[in-house]
Amino acid sequence: MKIAMLARNANLYSHKRLKEAAEERGHQLDIINTLRCYMNIASRRPEVYYNDGEKLEGYDAVIPRIGASVTFYGMAVLRQFEMQGVYPLNESVAIGRSRDKLRSMQLLARDGIGLPVTTFAHDPKQTDEVLKLAGGAPLVIKLLEGTQGLGVVLADTDRSAQSVIEAFRATNTNILVQEFIKEAGGTDIRAIVVGGRVIAAMKRTGAEGEFRSNLHRGGSANVIKLSPEERSTAVRSAKAMGLNVCGVDMLRANHGPVVMEVNSSPGLEGVEKATGLDIAGKIIEYIEKNAKPGATRTKGK
Ligand code: ADP
Ligand code: GLU
Repeated sequence: MKIAMLARNANLYSHKRLKEAAEERGHQLDIINTLRCYMNIASRRPEVYYNDGEKLEGYDAVIPRIGASVTFYGMAVLRQFEMQGVYPLNESVAIGRSRDKLRSMQLLARDGIGLPVTTFAHDPKQTDEVLKLAGGAPLVIKLLEGTQGLGVVLADTDRSAQSVIEAFRATNTNILVQEFIKEAGGTDIRAIVVGGRVIAAMKRTGAEGEFRSNLHRGGSANVIKLSPEERSTAVRSAKAMGLNVCGVDMLRANHGPVVMEVNSSPGLEGVEKATGLDIAGKIIEYIEKNAKPGATRTKGK
């Protein structure tokens, strides 16, 4: 097979591993810098060009590893491939859902998946009501566009929650307010779902005194065995989002697993190292089984 991977940094662990895994299985994998693609949107002839005019054609599959900061342009490039009938590991529409925290949570809630109580408002005058609706302090306040744990704040009192919200509002950013799942104890769970099955899971524990468990914030990763309920929550979340491959982040709440986020380009380093599993290989295998020319249903719709 000839596979294109839309990614900006060819040297990232995950990207190197996917290339390696594809080549080990006898495929060609070209890493395409998303921002160096350009396209023509001509009737019935969707094309993508690269760098100085090379036409990108003849691909059987495309692996989107589009960074959050280039979502808008990256999805346009991906749609162009989809319209050509190239099989996308994750479809553009599903990636779009996952990049919008509110939309994702609404879709998960619609399917009855456990979530932390989450509230949101546009008008600052409604701050008090939003805090009340979320159950009052302690509360977690999150930037809608945050990643890697930056922009996630724990407010111990309603007063501090109000000032944090005011501060964020002053910078004109969107936020959501969430019940603090204290019993998670600074640990979250990430399940990697490929093709409707959990193929690996790890727990991430925050550095001493840190409630955020992100590896970027000094957290550590270890292998973990999921309960059947956690497994099915992860699989149902992937399905609700329409993602073939994703990382589902959950917290262990007293009343069962609650989903925080579904990531359409999960990093492979932490989870491969924690579990010793060849996750990149499993992803390429999934493509082998599913990439047939024209197999994409959405065609970017
Ligand atoms: P990001 O997308 O920036 O990683 P997350 O929403 O995943 O932001 O939050 C970062 C970390 O903060 C999580 O991994 C988790 O450990 C902790 N966290 C987030 N939300 C809650 C919550 N409602 N209750 C308890 N801990 C939380
Ligand atoms: N078909 C809808 C879209 O194109 C999907 C809506 C959704 O489930 O997010 O956005």
